[in-house]
Amino acid sequence: MRYGIFSDVHSNLEALGAAINALHQEDIGRYLCIGDVVGYASNPNECVEKVKTLAPITVAGNHDWACVNLFSEEYFNPVAREAVIWTRSNLDDTTKYFLGSLRLTYENQDLALAHGTLHNPQDFEYMLDEDAAAATFALLKTNICFVGHTHRPGVFIQNFLGEIHYKESGAIEIKGGDKYVVDVGSVGQPRDGDPRAAYCIYDTEKKEVQIKRVSYDIQTARSKIINAGLPRYLGDRLLAGR
Ligand code: ZN
Repeated sequence: MRYGIFSDVHSNLEALGAAINALHQEDIGRYLCIGDVVGYASNPNECVEKVKTLAPITVAGNHDWACVNLFSEEYFNPVAREAVIWTRSNLDDTTKYFLGSLRLTYENQDLALAHGTLHNPQDFEYMLDEDAAAATFALLKTNICFVGHTHRPGVFIQNFLGEIHYKESGAIEIKGGDKYVVDVGSVGQPRDGDPRAAYCIYDTEKKEVQIKRVSYDIQTARSKIINAGLPRYLGDRLLAGR
């Protein structure tokens, strides 16, 4: 099976279109979305529609749930909160229904998904250090979990001794005996200094995970954010990928 995995689209239709076009070249058997389809940019309904067309398994992100009042916007910084409030008032009913029906985690015979962490999915904590990775590894029934939320691609690897190390790698070979937490980065608002949209491919036969990047029309996404009355900063940060 070749899985196409992506996260943190954040209503950025230009970035999502580019990522989907790139994934369509990859002979994907099944799509997975790790949440935050909405929030920050100007096209929440269009992005949800596009994601629904791909029919991925989708888990909930903090923005998805906050926009349908399942998670409090008090946990957000002021700019993110403003985007949640803007998004909430611009959602149509089908989008609201979709966001409200998302679950927090997903597991199958190959992998697990959670927006933040597998151990506290409802709190949307960040997978930022070995301790967070260890708590998720402890619950993992398969050898690999995919997460998003930080908007920075990377992987935590736990060897058979329980030792954990972190790698900012584009390609990872999956070895028997090791366990992996892969952060797939963000389609619509990367924060690792590379402004291109990030997406991930997991090939279970080749035992390989790849995180790839694709350019998109950032200027259009930025202008639409500013013209929609969203905070200008949300448009400007796309240029830097920070
Ligand atoms: Zn996010």
